[in-house]
Amino acid sequence: MQYNKLGKTELSLSQLSYGASPLGSVFRNISEAEGIKTVHTAVDLGINHIDVSPYYGATVAETVLGKALKTIPRDKYILSTKVGRYGSEFVDFDFSPQRIRRSLDESLKRLQVDGVDILYLHDIEFGHLQQVFEEAIPCLQALKQEGKIRYLGVTGYPIHVFSETLKHFDIDCILSYCRYALHDTSLEALLPELQNKGVGVVNASATGMGLLTERGAPEWHPGSAELLKVSQQAVKLCLQHGVDPTALALQFAINHPAICSTLVGTANPLNIEKNVKWAEQKPDAELVNKIRNLYKNINCTWPSGYEVNQD
Ligand code: NAD
Repeated sequence: MQYNKLGKTELSLSQLSYGASPLGSVFRNISEAEGIKTVHTAVDLGINHIDVSPYYGATVAETVLGKALKTIPRDKYILSTKVGRYGSEFVDFDFSPQRIRRSLDESLKRLQVDGVDILYLHDIEFGHLQQVFEEAIPCLQALKQEGKIRYLGVTGYPIHVFSETLKHFDIDCILSYCRYALHDTSLEALLPELQNKGVGVVNASATGMGLLTERGAPEWHPGSAELLKVSQQAVKLCLQHGVDPTALALQFAINHPAICSTLVGTANPLNIEKNVKWAEQKPDAELVNKIRNLYKNINCTWPSGYEVNQD
């Protein structure tokens, strides 16, 4: 496993990291035991970064992850969780300092740890950026000063929210999802600025939240019918070439020098074993081009959050 430094931080993250949202049964119903085994397999195989949020499975993912982490020495993993998002509707977001502090305390209890390494504001495009900038980020900065978190960052879908944040703050890292993957590489435009400013980049959803998997996208996937259809063609094309679509998606997403680490989620220990093995191999460049071409003339994005925060 390759390990990369996260921006200017002292953290060195495995190139392939573990996204714990499936522990909240967001893709399929999972048993707690298989979830716990998946986390243990990930850490045993050299994955040292785990990401979660109270939002995943309405706190269930954090609770299951906490049970898994209980038996793992704290120095074996770098843990991130998030604050601000607690559901899918606008009313389920709260970026006020009071809620942020309470949320962190609740997460620590569920995770059964004394602290997290990274705390993110979760999907800030669903907030009013003025509040995010005037209250929420300063609250995270205060938590860092107080030693309650080591580093802070923001997550989101529109690239716009990251560039706006960078205008005002020297944050430690960003977590971007679905924007550097086979179906969409638009995060690339922002990578030079992030690199120049020493802001670490965590990439998520290498498969585009299930688009490039044999099981396909979950029902709640926000992509258009056209995107889902083209993705089914992409999966078929991979299989015709004897390549697992998830392998190609993962190898493509982790293979960018400006991206520190890519999170992939699963609640199946066998998938972790496959993912770690795939991460050691380079993607088939010819097949990558063919798949990228399939997506060339369609809209691969979707709206997320307030209209004013879109790209
Ligand atoms: P993903 O692209 O990692 O896809 C997960 C899907 O891929 C699941 O259906 C899983 O079963 C499947 N999969 C994984 N390995 C597989 C394998 N070897 N074979 C077949 N299928 C396999 O998408 P994701 O889970 O949404 O993203 C990963 C993580 O990134 C999340 O768990 C979360 O931690 C983070 N994330 C954060 C945000 C945010 O902060 N806004 C958004 C999305 C994701």
